[in-house]
Amino acid sequence: MIPLAVPNLAGREAEYLQECITSTYVSTVGPFVGRLEEQVAAAAGTTGAVAVSTGTAGLHLALRVVGVGHGDLVAMPALTFIASANAVAYCGAAPWLFDVTPDALTMDPEQVADAFERDLEPGPDGPVHRPTGRRVAAVLPVHTLGHPADLDPLAATAHRHAIPVVADAAAALGARYRGRAIGQAGAAISVFSFNGNKTVTAGGGGALVSDDAALLARARHLSTTARVGSDYDHDEVGFNYRMTNVQAAVGCAQMEQLDTFVATKRRIQATYTERFSDLADVRPIPQASWADSACWFAGFSLEGWDADQVAALRAGLRDDGIDARPFWKPMHLQRPYADAPAEPLPVTEDVWQRLITLPCSTGITDDELGRVIAAVRGRLT
Ligand SMILES: *Cc1c(COP(=O)(O)O)cnc(C)c1O
Repeated sequence: MIPLAVPNLAGREAEYLQECITSTYVSTVGPFVGRLEEQVAAAAGTTGAVAVSTGTAGLHLALRVVGVGHGDLVAMPALTFIASANAVAYCGAAPWLFDVTPDALTMDPEQVADAFERDLEPGPDGPVHRPTGRRVAAVLPVHTLGHPADLDPLAATAHRHAIPVVADAAAALGARYRGRAIGQAGAAISVFSFNGNKTVTAGGGGALVSDDAALLARARHLSTTARVGSDYDHDEVGFNYRMTNVQAAVGCAQMEQLDTFVATKRRIQATYTERFSDLADVRPIPQASWADSACWFAGFSLEGWDADQVAALRAGLRDDGIDARPFWKPMHLQRPYADAPAEPLPVTEDVWQRLITLPCSTGITDDELGRVIAAVRGRLT
């Protein structure tokens, strides 16, 4: 089976891991954590970064430090990986679900602007969602599969209502938005993931980036059990969310390869798009003109197909030894979030079952890429 996305450890990962062992710095103290934070901030175009144990933990902290708390709502797209919604739930808040646009598969700025106009009224601690009486405490756009969300209009709407913006940038390291580095797209905090299947991995891990040193300091404090000094004194309920030096060692070696990894991801997507351009029903994963996607996952959608037909194609490709996978099942169809307030979701409902993802590891060989292309063409012509 040609896998969907596996780590590419062709750099200095082993050397840096050996340094951890030799130095005995295998835990949350050690030089690689700080070095990774510098690399990530530089790549994201921000003044600072905080490394954490997972992307999900990073999202939880980011939402906490911008003020999301018990009973609040967080406006976010229905089409995302469930970790985005879980981070909201960990704060005691609930998602308010929005659709995505067909040109980017990211949060629909017009729908957000219209719904905020229609449903928000001023409350004592910020705008309140009239239908539920809950405060709307953050907007959480997602850079879907590494494609930036359209943050200029989303942030303008959020700022009009004095609501902070946190970006789920889990797979978007290396992406650019309207020519800007992804950490400058318009969110107060952006959060990356270094999970094993992401373009850049640390085995597991995450990072928050921001230009706001106070927000990052607060996130760092909460990530280290809210410890004050070294005498077991803690000033609030914190978390054990720090990244280890072992994770960061892998992450540092991976970050040295970020540019080539992202270039390879883009080339894989471009190759599929090119080689399937004559297939009548195949539509590439959309790329908006204002975005340079990091192209985390490659794939395509099948125009006019129903869910059963797409599932049958996926099963056929798997028989051919190609690890073709479905796309995220949206949040309103997930049991924990079935009752969350939601706007109409026609694009999400239409697209999620028609999209399949294809092998796109940065270490994929030309031979493997050729086999994926031959298998897809064999089943569609
Ligand atoms: C990978 C991913 C996450 C979760 O990151 P972890 O490091 O696995 O916790 C969150 N959101 C999105 C959109 C992702 O793709």
